[in-house]
Amino acid sequence: MTDADVIVVGAGPAGLMLAGELGLAGVRALVLERRTQRGEIPKANGLGGQILELLHYRGLLDRFEAACSGPSHPAPQYPFGGVHVDFSSLPHPPLRGLTLPQPELERLLDERARELGAEVRWGQEIIDVAQDDTTVTAQVRGADGSYQLRARYLVGCDGGRSTVRDGAGIAFPGTTHPEVNRLGQLTLHESVTRHDDGDVDVPGLGRVHAGAFVRTDRGVFGFGWLTPEVMLLSTTEDETTDLADDVPMTLTELQDSIRHVLGAEFPLGEPRRLSRYTFQARQAERYRDGRVFLAGDAAHLFPATGVGLNAGLLDTVNLAWKLAADLHGWAPPALLDTYHRERHFAGARTLKHTQAQVALRRGQDPAAEALRDVFLELFADEQPLRRVGALIAGTDIRYPLPNPNGHPLTGAFAPDLTLHVDRGTTSLAELTRTARPVLLDLADRSDLRETARPWRDRIDVHTAKADDRPADALLVRPDAHVAWAATPDEPEATAVRGLRDALTDWFGAPSR
Ligand SMILES: Cc1cc2nc3c(=O)[nH]c(=O)nc-3n(C[C@H](O)[C@H](O)[C@H](O)COP(=O)(O)OP(=O)(O)OC[C@H]3O[C@@H](n4cnc5c(N)ncnc54)[C@H](O)[C@@H]3O)c2cc1C
Repeated sequence: MTDADVIVVGAGPAGLMLAGELGLAGVRALVLERRTQRGEIPKANGLGGQILELLHYRGLLDRFEAACSGPSHPAPQYPFGGVHVDFSSLPHPPLRGLTLPQPELERLLDERARELGAEVRWGQEIIDVAQDDTTVTAQVRGADGSYQLRARYLVGCDGGRSTVRDGAGIAFPGTTHPEVNRLGQLTLHESVTRHDDGDVDVPGLGRVHAGAFVRTDRGVFGFGWLTPEVMLLSTTEDETTDLADDVPMTLTELQDSIRHVLGAEFPLGEPRRLSRYTFQARQAERYRDGRVFLAGDAAHLFPATGVGLNAGLLDTVNLAWKLAADLHGWAPPALLDTYHRERHFAGARTLKHTQAQVALRRGQDPAAEALRDVFLELFADEQPLRRVGALIAGTDIRYPLPNPNGHPLTGAFAPDLTLHVDRGTTSLAELTRTARPVLLDLADRSDLRETARPWRDRIDVHTAKADDRPADALLVRPDAHVAWAATPDEPEATAVRGLRDALTDWFGAPSR
């Protein structure tokens, strides 16, 4: 007897997203969170990248947009290693963002997870995990003492200092950069004067330029304006203190840091938001150990802003349907192993560009300045601009899947095609809302529809016309990635064989 099919450790964004995705796939998750209530520490201020497209496919983007200050929007600028990449010249910027403070994101994900049947228990800390061939046992500490829970699978979404990862003996190699970044959103202090161009006059310090970074031998100071009333101040100092993300930053800490970097006082007004982050570049050696999996910050930490949530939430979308397939009894034997293969691959790619950003950002000498200038020059051209946008958004990630006919969409996120069907117009996003696999027949291919018939209990088949047809047919997994695509010039027998193999590889043996 088990207490749950899947125990999810941690009710942060990754744990709650996973619980929702499992619910969508018909599995009730039990989420255990050591905090006694939802946190209000300001971490991420929003979401960006590929995850926004996925939320759109799930029908969640509208709901999230309605709950925050407005719709998702193309990001006109984005920091990349101390250089501001300016996408405003592009007609279709490659990167979108949604302003949604992390506590609000967690509230929305919690709401969705519970709507889909998950149970979230607060004040329950996992202190150890053990497993045998059929179950995982979690040692839990709650208000009334310690007890055990058993499940078929357990997923550690318990953040960068993951107990689950340590308990499973999974190494987390990498680097902790000796750097602490502090950010404050504050009103202007009455003793500071603002000029029309945004620069300020600070008593005892003189004129400080908006948008410029002041580099001293003790660190970097910068400031700009979020609104005409609210300024954004930041410091970066080399520091080796081990600071936990869940310890709030105070106004005094920011004030001390500015004084240390500038060697002078910068009077601060009313704080609106104070946050602090450190940078680590780490990736779990394995995302799976038998019945134990890792997702989110427990699996990876990146040394740059704006990518952690994108990567972590996409981990859970990749994992949930595979766990559900196994629990429903139709998963092919190797399916669960593809989680590590695909998401470790994606994490390594994100780690690569965020580490490159460290090299670009940290240097203070003329060579480093020259490197930043060269990058800025390159980013004046459309092609490198699009390339770096795709890199940050993670839209260039193509999983290494079997691809016998070499179709360029295999392994990629499925494009949201506008589709003409008998009853009117729809889109791929709408057809995949339930997170069931879809065979999309775009060329009225009865041979392919017939091939898929024995899998109809697990996949949906739709025939449609697309204005700009990328393939004769697409087999789309629940995580919206293309498992297989038919090339138009392929002999019928080859296409049928390719589809049958892909259906068997991803969705198990055909029903009789
Ligand atoms: C100041 C700051 C700004 C940031 N800005 C951005 C940004 O703009 N964009 C972006 O994408 N990312 C940003 N990040 C990173 C982002 O916040 C993380 O990537 C994200 O929180 C990771 O989510 P997670 O669910 O994997 O882990 P976490 O959010 O760390 O959640 C883990 C959860 O597990 C719980 N837990 C831990 N151990 C146990 C245990 N043993 N038993 C039970 N529960 C446990 C914790 O209490 C926590 O609730 C920022 C981070 C900081 C600190």
